[in-house]
Amino acid sequence: MHKPVYALAAGLLLALHSVAVDAATLIHAGRLIDGTEADPRSNVTIRVEGQRIVGIDNGFTRPSASDTVIDLRDATVMPGFIDMHTHITSQLEPGSYMHRFTMNEADVAYRGQNFANITLNAGFTTVRDLGDSFGVSIALRNAINNGLVVGPRIFTSGKSLATTGGHADPSNGYRRGLVETPTPMEGVLNGPYEARQAVRARYQEGANLIKLTATGGVLSLADSGDNPQFMDDELVAIVETAHDYGMKVAVHAHGKDGMIRAIKAGVDSIEHGTYMDDDVFALMKEYGTWYVPTITAGKSVAERAEIEGYFPAQVRPKARAIGPLIQNTFGRAYAAGVKIAFGTDASVYDHGENAREFVYMVEAGMPEIEAIRAATMNAATLLGQESELGSIEVGKLADIVAVRGNPLEDIAVLHQVSFVMKDGQVFKQ
Ligand SMILES: [Zn+2]
Repeated sequence: MHKPVYALAAGLLLALHSVAVDAATLIHAGRLIDGTEADPRSNVTIRVEGQRIVGIDNGFTRPSASDTVIDLRDATVMPGFIDMHTHITSQLEPGSYMHRFTMNEADVAYRGQNFANITLNAGFTTVRDLGDSFGVSIALRNAINNGLVVGPRIFTSGKSLATTGGHADPSNGYRRGLVETPTPMEGVLNGPYEARQAVRARYQEGANLIKLTATGGVLSLADSGDNPQFMDDELVAIVETAHDYGMKVAVHAHGKDGMIRAIKAGVDSIEHGTYMDDDVFALMKEYGTWYVPTITAGKSVAERAEIEGYFPAQVRPKARAIGPLIQNTFGRAYAAGVKIAFGTDASVYDHGENAREFVYMVEAGMPEIEAIRAATMNAATLLGQESELGSIEVGKLADIVAVRGNPLEDIAVLHQVSFVMKDGQVFKQ
């Protein structure tokens, strides 16, 4: 007599249990570009449970009573975009060279939170941050991961590493005595021993990766935008130490000599890469080095250099000379078969306009589907997150975006992302 009662109770428990576990979000997608090499698919249902994608089925699956349906039947659905080069806590604007005299940590933090929100709304569910101040990108990453504020998943280098007087030495441009000389703890190093200390300090602070500035840069208060600024022994010390800690190394470089030294030292990506030529392309292919182009940054600084008084006098000629070249470099790198991951240098232009890069990539000869892959699966691979991010596949984190229209016919539709899901949670619909 006990058996049926027991069975009934067990059955009820099972039913309750299955309701709790199986409540799913069904995304009805008119067109799916999944981030892999696969062809686009029409009319599929993506099943999301908790944070993850648990099924992708042909046709529009009918929901059970506990399911939520998201109707994207007239949209193109893609993996959340990944921007591999941002500075999420700052933004270039008229007078921003004064910010370092006027802004405290809290000012930078509030601005960063706003930029993070804007970036997620534009469909970028993951970003790398390649250089902040006050360690704000690390705190912002943690706040986002803990659900305190809204923003993309952040992988950050914290303070980028420079040599004395080099691009990203925070004391450049100050009169003597105004600031203390920065040490490896603040990201400025000379020699291999200090290089190791600078990397370990980033690890200690909670950075995910290392960024260094192997050559001069456009926006720093210094004469050259392309001279080599690290010696071989410093680069090797940084790469070996970083890789010991499981951290990848991203390298800002415009000039050829600095790039070649960095590639030979074993860095993971070259950012900007303005003066790359066939020798550099061949070397990158030999070493498996990624290229993150940031065409948008180049275009943007060139435009702003035409505005009288926008940049300090030392910066303006560099912005005019270097900025317009990157799109052409990108086109040649793509034709040469260099591995490319999408990155824009957001902060040099306004956050949220990251999709401009897609348009410039396609203009320079990359097919639309490959430009999307550069911002999804390729970027996830360079992050070392290819098993979690970068594609719409069963088992991956549910980072999913959508646009009206077909980006394979008009890449510019990626400017208008209408739906954003991150970690299975809807942020824009
Ligand atoms: Zn940058």
